Amino acid sequence: MLTIPSFSTLGLAEPLLRALADKNYTEPSPIQAQAIPHLLDGRDLLGCAQTGTGKTAAFALPILHRLSKHPPVRMARRPGVLVLTPTRELAAQIGESFAHYGKYLPFRHTVIFGGVGQNPQVRALREGVDIVVATPGRLLDLAEQGCIDLSGVGVFVLDEADRMLDMGFAPDVKRVMARLPERRQSLLFSATMPGPILEIANRLLHDPVKVEVVPASSTADKVVQHVCHVDRGDKPDLLAHTIHSHAGGLVLVFSRTKHGANKLVKKLGQNRIAASAIHGNKSQTARERALEDFRSGKVRVLVATDIAARGIDVKGVSLVINYDLPNEPESYVHRIGRTARAGADGLAIAFCDPDERVYLRDIERLIRIDVPVMSDHPYALATPNLHQLGGGGSKGRGGSAGRGGPRRSGSAPVRDMGGMASNNAPNRPRNRFRSSRRAGGR
Ligand code: AMP
Repeated sequence: MLTIPSFSTLGLAEPLLRALADKNYTEPSPIQAQAIPHLLDGRDLLGCAQTGTGKTAAFALPILHRLSKHPPVRMARRPGVLVLTPTRELAAQIGESFAHYGKYLPFRHTVIFGGVGQNPQVRALREGVDIVVATPGRLLDLAEQGCIDLSGVGVFVLDEADRMLDMGFAPDVKRVMARLPERRQSLLFSATMPGPILEIANRLLHDPVKVEVVPASSTADKVVQHVCHVDRGDKPDLLAHTIHSHAGGLVLVFSRTKHGANKLVKKLGQNRIAASAIHGNKSQTARERALEDFRSGKVRVLVATDIAARGIDVKGVSLVINYDLPNEPESYVHRIGRTARAGADGLAIAFCDPDERVYLRDIERLIRIDVPVMSDHPYALATPNLHQLGGGGSKGRGGSAGRGGPRRSGSAPVRDMGGMASNNAPNRPRNRFRSSRRAGGR
């Protein structure tokens, strides 16, 4: 049984404790409790954790603490801390976290990403910053132009390393690593730890402490999951029906393509549902506006592609809809992790057409749960047996379909579309953050 200490027993500097108190953070999340003491000691760290676990504070707090104890001499274009992260949204959020946690400390940070003019970023670097949070492409651009010198980086954080590789940033990450000095503290965070990540970890880290919060294949404890079997052509109507039936809270919808996301926004508009889209074809300003409107509740529904959704940390998301099932099962885990953030409850509904059943089977294998079928909706197809894949479903409108394949989780199909809160995963713990375990150590 893990005893959760308070932030003050972790030995964090007083200005940080004050900033945490302002945010009403009473106790560290498991990854914070496990990682912070080692990071304060200057150890390298390999963290297996996804967003939603509190991993940003797990690295930001000890970094700020160590800077406060040994204030660096600030030099133009030569930051002491570099955090590399795959998306602009995530970079912006990490920047905000440094601003919050460091509000009573004198350190300066800046955020660097593409899609916006480089001049303000160049100016900030010239004036001197202690911490840089960056996406790889723009960072390398600026490094090649001589606007930033990474030889003074004493702490390097590689965040969301698996996503970074998925997005094709591996060569860029290696080029950034080649610019770092030998002597430094390094941290690598990744939700999954496939071979190529471990290879990078071996090159990057020296005798790291290993911290794992929830195995990569687990889904968030508090996310109640369902799947609706539906014909592809009925999905737009099912989407409108599902959103109308879901009483409160923000709804995040995942679409496979940018074009599909735009079409859904239009279709929802026709059903009197205000929605916006966020994807890579939108300008940075349009993405930020869409996110801000969503955050503030002005627009209740955000339709996103995987890459754009990567950094979304919006507290009020109560429903995630997988309009298209992802072909990589890990993406499903990332997507549904957008709800039930920081201890809140959340619901995830997947729309599965007959062609996507193979994806559903892979997801269920990965998460080791049979996702309960929701069949009480006007577009329900008969529930297939995923273990005998092949062929389409026969329509059973009115919700009479039952569950076919073996149910490992022991949860029953859900019949009440209106209520939506249900009986999923009875054995899961109700911890504030996900359960954790230490995978290794010194
Ligand atoms: P992250 O995994 O870093 O994206 O954090 C997920 C969410 O948890 C963010 O909204 C954080 O602001 C929040 N959070 C982080 N640490 C704590 C904590 N100790 N107590 C409460 N909320 C936290």
